[in-house]
Amino acid sequence: MTRAQENLQTSFADRHIGTTAADQQVMLDAVGQPSLDALVRAAIPASIHAAPAERSTIPAAVGETEALAELRTKAGRNTVRRAMIGLGYHGTLTPAVIQRNVLENPSWYTAYTPYQPEISQGRLEALINFQTMVSDLTGMATAGASMLDEGTAVVEGMLLARRASKVKGDAFLVDADLLPQTRALLDHRADAVGIALRGFDPVEGPSDEQLEGAFGVVLQYPGASGRIVDPSRTIERVHAGGGIAVVAADLLAMTLLASPGDLGADVAVGTSQRFGVPLGFGGPHAGYLAVRAGLERQLPGRLVGVSFDADGQMAYRLSLQTREQHIRREKATSNICTAQVLLAVMASMYAVYHGPEGLRFIADRVARTTSALAGVARDAGFEVVHEHWFDTLTLRAAGRAESVIDAARDAGYLLHLVDADTVQLSVDETTTPDDVSALAHVFGVVDATVPAAEAAVRDAATGLPSDLLRSSEYLTHPVFSAHRSETRMMRYLKHLADKDYALDRGMIPLGSCTMKLNAATEMAAVTWPEFANVHPFAPRSDVEGYLDMIGDLETWLAEVTGYDTVSLQPNAGSQGELAGLLAIRGYHRSRGDLDRTVCLIPSSAHGTNAASAVLAGMRVVVVACDEDGNVDLADLRAKTAAHAETLAALMITYPSTHGVYEHDVREVCDAVHDAGGQVYVDGANLNALLGHARFGDFGGDVSHLNLHKTFCIPHGGGGPGVGPVAAKAHLAPFLPGHAMAQQVDRRPGSSADGTDGRLAHAGGPVSAAPYGSPSILPITWTYVRMMGLEGLTRATEAAVLGANYIASRLRDAFPVLYTGESGLVAHECILDLRPLRETSGITVDDVAKRLVDYGFHAPTMSFPVAGTLMVEPTESEDLAELDRFVDAMLAIRAEAAAVERGEWPADDNPLVHAPHTAASAISGEWTHPYTREQAVYPVPGISARKYWPPVRRIDQAYGDRNLVCACPPIEAFA
Ligand SMILES: *Cc1c(COP(=O)(O)O)cnc(C)c1O
Repeated sequence: MTRAQENLQTSFADRHIGTTAADQQVMLDAVGQPSLDALVRAAIPASIHAAPAERSTIPAAVGETEALAELRTKAGRNTVRRAMIGLGYHGTLTPAVIQRNVLENPSWYTAYTPYQPEISQGRLEALINFQTMVSDLTGMATAGASMLDEGTAVVEGMLLARRASKVKGDAFLVDADLLPQTRALLDHRADAVGIALRGFDPVEGPSDEQLEGAFGVVLQYPGASGRIVDPSRTIERVHAGGGIAVVAADLLAMTLLASPGDLGADVAVGTSQRFGVPLGFGGPHAGYLAVRAGLERQLPGRLVGVSFDADGQMAYRLSLQTREQHIRREKATSNICTAQVLLAVMASMYAVYHGPEGLRFIADRVARTTSALAGVARDAGFEVVHEHWFDTLTLRAAGRAESVIDAARDAGYLLHLVDADTVQLSVDETTTPDDVSALAHVFGVVDATVPAAEAAVRDAATGLPSDLLRSSEYLTHPVFSAHRSETRMMRYLKHLADKDYALDRGMIPLGSCTMKLNAATEMAAVTWPEFANVHPFAPRSDVEGYLDMIGDLETWLAEVTGYDTVSLQPNAGSQGELAGLLAIRGYHRSRGDLDRTVCLIPSSAHGTNAASAVLAGMRVVVVACDEDGNVDLADLRAKTAAHAETLAALMITYPSTHGVYEHDVREVCDAVHDAGGQVYVDGANLNALLGHARFGDFGGDVSHLNLHKTFCIPHGGGGPGVGPVAAKAHLAPFLPGHAMAQQVDRRPGSSADGTDGRLAHAGGPVSAAPYGSPSILPITWTYVRMMGLEGLTRATEAAVLGANYIASRLRDAFPVLYTGESGLVAHECILDLRPLRETSGITVDDVAKRLVDYGFHAPTMSFPVAGTLMVEPTESEDLAELDRFVDAMLAIRAEAAAVERGEWPADDNPLVHAPHTAASAISGEWTHPYTREQAVYPVPGISARKYWPPVRRIDQAYGDRNLVCACPPIEAFA
């Protein structure tokens, strides 16, 4: 956006909000409301509606140019040095072809989670490449499609071990050389669910006493200190007792070292960050989790598998979804919903581009560079502590550690200070002979020239133990060798993206997901080096710009939600829920209320709520909804009375997952407080409230927000996300802290009056990195900066108007299931398709798939009510697109009417056969009672922008019965 264009007298808000004032008038007429103000006052209960704030911490909106200039100033306050701190985070070279065509390409980053597989074949293929890459490198049978980070992946591994283990005990064995942030996460998470951790020295192995009653073990491979210990002896001993062995493995090291699978592990976990995903001050990156054969049904999170479409063509889909929390709720294998798809896609493409030889070459160079540095360090009088290494050295010299760290920093390098005598450093693919030479000078070697360093790297042997070298093959599938030239790679990425439907094609009206514009200006800063190339444990003086931006966001988000403090650490909404519930747990326990463990959850709640409650050590009690879809106050009062002594919390979503502003939310909150419980307000639907009401004002004690819904972080095809947790002051001490946080008041145990006058967060961590996924926070910062409070408030109004417009135009064709007292909905509406099924046999699936033929992504299917579609247009769609959607739905209703009238047989009509591929439309003889044109060009004008699905309807059941979760052989596509 140039300054000249901005001078058109419009604001960014006018470009973010799709409907013009004139459009809005047309829509208001359809809804029967005189003005936007009248609409929101009629929809939002007066008891919670707040007058616009007179003074705001959010500055008045600026345009794109100014916002980026301000962000540039903040970026300039970060100092980018060569980060050799390691500890699970490594410098990496993102291939430009991947940065431009994936990370910076809306076809990839604006896509939704691939629940509609027919329009998601591209990202599903990329994810199955990721799964294949992980399972090959780790030697495991099956890998899932991404965890949130390494630390939480280890937690998931521990929980999986408990589910799958034959041992009924509650002890879990933990390698003393585990990454420190992983250990901190394990401590916090294990405590909540009654698991006792037993630390042991990896060389000695656990004692017999420790093995007693242990359901599993986790080993770091190579260790956090760089030491490499053969894990197989400990694995055998744990297996002998019936336990499960989890190995946290470095994927790059696995190209050279025997894999966890080779060594007998049951589960492998870790991160794929160093496969081309920038450090980003800690995230987002894709964690991974893989299992041996027999454990695949225990996997947490999403899993891509293979099935067939209606024409018998092979196709990808998400497998075994019945394990997930939206079906199994408190019995789900995990609470993870939004994961790290975009980053998993990047990591998989890094492997596709480099191939097995390329990865081995990179790993080998890293290992030899490390050995060269070991030689330099010895020359300089350091003891190299461990006998073997891959990329990390622990160096000891009495009393010299701090001065070396300081000298390194002055020379532009960040090393890790272990103690006064010990320094640790990690080499990565960005480390050059120049760096070796510079570090030699830092260590005090005088004659360290670059040519000498080059020779040392060339001539060095790796420090790997000879008895642990890898002999098994990996990445043998042709996809990992077919795209080696940049031209091929670019075309492969384009070929996959073209199969998918993302926001760059049209509206994605997914209720509960808020698929709004992710503006290009908002995305711009993500790849700036000052944000992208910062290590999460860099010293505070290097990250002032980041902390400044984080401080702005904490302040702004606290204000708009009516809370006192915000933590940006959780990596998704589900993790925000967990953090909030753990804070409630900590609060009750601090007051001696050890028995307050009951969590009330309305039957309409999102599945993550129940799954998170279990992980916070709570017991779920379901509260009924009344016939209007609201929380049944009588049932709530009965439940609070029945659990008066044990009530911990109520989780309530506002506005509700039924898309309405519940009238009695204050009464609901009061009833819980009267019974001694805390109120958790799930803030995923904040897009219906922002600027008009605040959770903290009507009774919430704590909430999570979804920055990847309300605040413009793109959905990435299923992640990344950020799920900040916002709370009242009394819960602040229990919000997630982090031992390595740069801000003192964000460390566990910090005092209540932190620096900068902020409330301290002293609880255990919920993410591996102190600030979760900071590199995508510029997106939200820029959005708020360019909207201002006024723009955000207008966006809410436009979103609510859009939903009500759709509801009123479609009401006669499809009943709107729930409305508020005024007959209005909030920012989304549930269309009831069950009556249609009665009269025509047409199902919600048929309608969803037929929408693909009309050029749409289906709305949310069967959540929160089976047999319904939930539509959320968001404020970003314009009236023409809303009308195109309404017209498509009405046309589909007319097609169903033809089935009702018997003009088309129930089993042969364009709905049950949807979606139609190009191949199916031109194929030989056409035997259907509808025409080829009706099949693929159902409305006039569609041909110019036709989206062609690459496959027909996919058989879901087949894929679950016949589980294949790695790249199928090429012949399978024939
Ligand atoms: C999206 C959503 C969540 C979960 O958020 P994730 O970021 O996917 O983990 C929780 N509750 C509600 C109501 C949601 O819509």
